[in-house]
Amino acid sequence: MTELRYEAPESLDGAVTLLSGGGGGKILAGGTDVLVQLHTEMIEPDVIVDIKNIPELKRLSEDGGAWTVGAAVSGMNIIDNDAFQTAWPGVCEGVALIGSIQVKGRASIGGNLCNASPAADSVPAIIAAGAIANIVGPGGSREEPVENIVTGPGQTSLAQGELIVSFSFPAKQANSGDCYLRLTPRTEMDIAIVGAGVNLTLDDDGTCIAARISIGAVAPTPLLVEDAANALIGTKVNDAALDAMVEAVRAACNPISDKRGTREYRIKTAGVIARRAALKALERAQAN
Ligand SMILES: Cc1cc2nc3c(=O)[nH]c(=O)nc-3n(C[C@H](O)[C@H](O)[C@H](O)COP(=O)(O)OP(=O)(O)OC[C@H]3O[C@@H](n4cnc5c(N)ncnc54)[C@H](O)[C@@H]3O)c2cc1C
Repeated sequence: MTELRYEAPESLDGAVTLLSGGGGGKILAGGTDVLVQLHTEMIEPDVIVDIKNIPELKRLSEDGGAWTVGAAVSGMNIIDNDAFQTAWPGVCEGVALIGSIQVKGRASIGGNLCNASPAADSVPAIIAAGAIANIVGPGGSREEPVENIVTGPGQTSLAQGELIVSFSFPAKQANSGDCYLRLTPRTEMDIAIVGAGVNLTLDDDGTCIAARISIGAVAPTPLLVEDAANALIGTKVNDAALDAMVEAVRAACNPISDKRGTREYRIKTAGVIARRAALKALERAQAN
């Protein structure tokens, strides 16, 4: 049996070199998924590449209202940042639901996304926010909308040697609000039966002029549901618009049945949770 190597590079180049070296390199950010997978022998990498010593991955900064969140910044550091919390309360709601305080003291949003669980809590919120993943790899740098990263359970579109450096969040528009809600069998420390992230912008008359709606745990990947957003755009987000949005959300669902909920239950509750998230996002947009 070969010995598992541990490396902690201090530069992006160093990480890319280690990850592109052939064989099985595994990125470790907070380790709250990776360490469990190693322990249960779900994964057997040759080398663990700890990315937390790379400055670009640990940066949380704002420039002209736009935020850059390093992919390895811990969940606690994200939700404890008052200015980020004010800008993106829905993203913080998604992050706050990841495990306990101890788990969030380690867990990152890069790890939550790249573990590629259909039920990852921060992911629908980040997709709804319109965040872009900044990626580096052997071929250089590239940008990808977050909704294009997860391709299936445990699968991402990242090529060998690539890692996510950070996420770019656009400057929040006036009269905008976001929200993430989930349904779980327990109040915490369990994964979502359904999650929904909604991000809305209103004009001065209260008409919805932009919307992004993303749902989790109801399909093999988190989904951006454009039909649901289109049901709200151009409306005052009244009951009729919300009914049409709920219908579009339910039409997009393709969930499994498991011990947490049947397929039918997930489809029905996806509409309920999306509606509640939309109403909260609306309330925040009206208050901004
Ligand atoms: C007790 C417990 C409760 C939990 N509860 C929840 C919950 O309620 N909701 C929820 O969503 N999750 C939950 N989780 C899962 C886990 O905590 C999250 O998925 C967490 O965000 C993972 O982040 P991490 O930094 O620990 O990732 P890691 O474990 O370090 O990595 C996860 C995966 O992402 C890859 N990766 C990490 N960073 C990058 C990067 N920058 N670029 C490319 N690939 C990368 C790793 O190689 C690995 O495949 C829970 C876990 C535990 C142990």
